[in-house]
Amino acid sequence: MTLDTKKLLEIDRNSVFHASTHLKQYAHGEIPGRIITGAQGIRIIDSTGIELIDAFAGLYCVNIGYGRVEMAEAIYEQAKKLAYYHTYVGHTNEALIELSDRIIKMAPAGMSKVYYGMSGSDANETQLKLVWYYNNVLGRPQKKKIISRDRGYHGSSIASGSMTGLPLFHAHFDLPLERIKHTIAPVYYRRPDNNMSEAEFSRYCAAELEKMILAEGPDTVAAMIGEPVLGTGGIVPPPEGYWSEIKQVLDKYDILLIADEVVCGFGRLGSDFGSTHYDMKPDLMTIAKGLTSAYQPLSGVIVGDKVWQVLEQGTDDWGAIGHGYTYSGHPMGAAAALCNLDIIARENLTENARDTGAYLQQRMNETFAEHPLVGESRGVGLLHALEFSSNKAERTHFDPALKVGPQIAAACLEQGLIARAMPHGDILGFAPPLVVNKDEIDDIVERTKKAVNQVTDKLI
Ligand code: PLP
Repeated sequence: MTLDTKKLLEIDRNSVFHASTHLKQYAHGEIPGRIITGAQGIRIIDSTGIELIDAFAGLYCVNIGYGRVEMAEAIYEQAKKLAYYHTYVGHTNEALIELSDRIIKMAPAGMSKVYYGMSGSDANETQLKLVWYYNNVLGRPQKKKIISRDRGYHGSSIASGSMTGLPLFHAHFDLPLERIKHTIAPVYYRRPDNNMSEAEFSRYCAAELEKMILAEGPDTVAAMIGEPVLGTGGIVPPPEGYWSEIKQVLDKYDILLIADEVVCGFGRLGSDFGSTHYDMKPDLMTIAKGLTSAYQPLSGVIVGDKVWQVLEQGTDDWGAIGHGYTYSGHPMGAAAALCNLDIIARENLTENARDTGAYLQQRMNETFAEHPLVGESRGVGLLHALEFSSNKAERTHFDPALKVGPQIAAACLEQGLIARAMPHGDILGFAPPLVVNKDEIDDIVERTKKAVNQVTDKLI
């Protein structure tokens, strides 16, 4: 590279439209850019030589850690052999066959087939189409509404962005679509009555869901979508008994359950899937991120047998299904996923997420639970969040203008640590690669403590 960082960033500002960015401030040089040039294990390095611990694994996706030569070789070998062929009308490839068989065997009982895409967003678009098609086959054209949750995150395309329950992703984009409704988020920290137990709060959430279904008309509601653990909306594990209460309501009104496993799938919680961790019994599952640890873009919709039977019938009635992407079942994505799943199994990374994850929870809780700025320290497996509050006892929010979450994330960066200021509320998220060890957890906690204390000194 002959151009220096400054010059490259200037070209970047002139030519790249960045995701989730203040476009004007970035284009005009008012906020910094960073050129990432390399990465190894849990660390990334930029073009100025700064090394950072990535305690968010990119966007909670680089689960096997950075710099895996074995992955590069698997992708290279596949590229040499067969870089691409489509999967329309029965065309397939060996990597895809092996991968799909493996996913179905790993998935909870009753899962039947995998449809592939490139991102979590497009997989959730597929979910919506399949659910609509399903009810058309069954002769229920009015049963089309989808219930998602406030603070859920399912992507940022038209339908997936509608299912996302964060105002930032709706406002000024004319979203959400009318058929998509949002019920309350199962955030125990924000329970309406302080005296509610977790189990009571779960029943309350299920009762709210049922109220919404009855108000909309049960024969108009097709499916509910939810992440086993709320992710981008604040990293919130469900309260005790939540999924079983929800499932009972859905079954009562013949409503499908879609588990969005994009973050939880493939080890992050210390189990293969969030669905099995919480015994969700979904009809459909969305997978992405941890499927390839982001070494290739690959997502999937796992279709359960109940839905599959109806889809088959639909094609009997109407011919080949009108859904397909050029890159669906891409062999290089499949090869990356196979190698990634091998690494996860060989290195016991799911078990590590459980054990080192328990250590992360313990260290974070003992360090921050009593901290004056921290309203709640919560998590499961290798997912953790610190929620900041201006009054711990009252659980009040800081004035959003203070940008406390982003301030703490910036202070973490000064300590050489990437933790993510979540887009909703003053919440700092942690989701390190599943290869993280206990010494590294200690390091992450210590750096976080320094950063939080630095901002506390400014605020108090
Ligand atoms: N679903 C969940 C639970 C996610 O966390 C995300 C992304 O963070 C998505 C879907 C969307 O995935 P993508 O960004 O690959 O479109």
